[in-house]
Amino acid sequence: MPFSKLGLCDPIVQAIEELGYTTPTPVQKQAIPIILSGKDLIATAQTGTGKTAAFVLPLLSLFNKERTLRGKRIRALILTPTRELAVQVAANVTEYSKHLNLSSMAVYGGVDSEPQKQRLIEGIDILVATPGRLLDLAHQRALHFDELEVLVLDEADRMVDMGFADDIKKIIERLPADRQNLLFSATVNNGVRIFADHFSASKMGRRAVEISISPEDTTAPSIDQWLITVDKDTKSALLSHLINEQKWDQALIFIEKKHAAAKLVAQLAKRGIEADAIHGDRSQAMREKILADFKSGKLKYLVATGVAARGLDIGELSRVVNYDLPFKPEEYIHRIGRTGRAGATGEAISFVAMGDFKNLCAIESRLNHVINRKEIEGFPVRKVVPVSILNYVRKSNR
Ligand code: AMP
Repeated sequence: MPFSKLGLCDPIVQAIEELGYTTPTPVQKQAIPIILSGKDLIATAQTGTGKTAAFVLPLLSLFNKERTLRGKRIRALILTPTRELAVQVAANVTEYSKHLNLSSMAVYGGVDSEPQKQRLIEGIDILVATPGRLLDLAHQRALHFDELEVLVLDEADRMVDMGFADDIKKIIERLPADRQNLLFSATVNNGVRIFADHFSASKMGRRAVEISISPEDTTAPSIDQWLITVDKDTKSALLSHLINEQKWDQALIFIEKKHAAAKLVAQLAKRGIEADAIHGDRSQAMREKILADFKSGKLKYLVATGVAARGLDIGELSRVVNYDLPFKPEEYIHRIGRTGRAGATGEAISFVAMGDFKNLCAIESRLNHVINRKEIEGFPVRKVVPVSILNYVRKSNR
């Protein structure tokens, strides 16, 4: 089914054709008609499935009619967990709306709020925001929600994980009851369900339509996942070896702790490999510069803590490395979703040490298959990691 059959207006179809999208992804096929019909939607879909376009395209189409907006008013609010994702979503809105007369911008913390306030004075059709900064701006009366028509919660599970649930509730309380609600999340657990309850309250009992895009339906099936069992103290030597031996053109390397990120960059430098790190302690300007260098190919190896890497859209990423295996299976799926995006092929490599055994069981149980193991010559392990049990249920939540 082509995009032109989904009911989107012509200037949007033209913009996506110019971007080279030929067919809608499964989440787009399902979500776009529901959103265009004005219904609330709860969608289980992870990054890499084309979920951003799934809500932005119909939103733009619905807004493509003449309407004058009063000052400091917004028509759509898209909440995201991180500034990087806010910037990325706003960039997508700009691309998709290039033939429409609609305004959009992103607001997020860590930067001066004055320019953001200035731009809000005229009113903005589509505002992408992180919860904390949005509440700050609302408290300062830099924006008002009385003309809001649509609320989107993007990556709702991550917002809950990052402790934004109360902020989001406070924001929802300020919104007009008569609005359309859209929620996208990699998993819809109890923490996320609370928002769905708020939605039905706003619609006087009208229920949201729920859709779920299973991992097999995603556009990124071509990810070659493999793992290497390794002793903790040989991880950085193994990474340098792989970069050199396998002539990696690019890698996004996930690491648990920020001080370890800086240490790894130094260890790689000693072996003649130039890398840089992105983590919470670096300024926004620095993070943006490093990310731009990585995207342009100037920087080939980027080390990132999980939190700092959330929301990064790096386009055609060929390889991600779990230098440290994540605790949660959802995090693993999110990370590998950064490669092989929208049809491109990618590689996801995990370093697994003995201490990661339970996390590996949880991840492989969630995937419902074991991950292919490879042995690398010259890196025998002292502490062998057993093969997982695939029906593993974690006893505690850490
Ligand atoms: P997302 O899941 O929103 O992070 O999107 C993942 C990537 O897929 C982004 O880089 C989009 O630009 C791209 N994309 C989204 N929809 C399509 C489509 N229908 N065809 C090709 N690429 C797409």
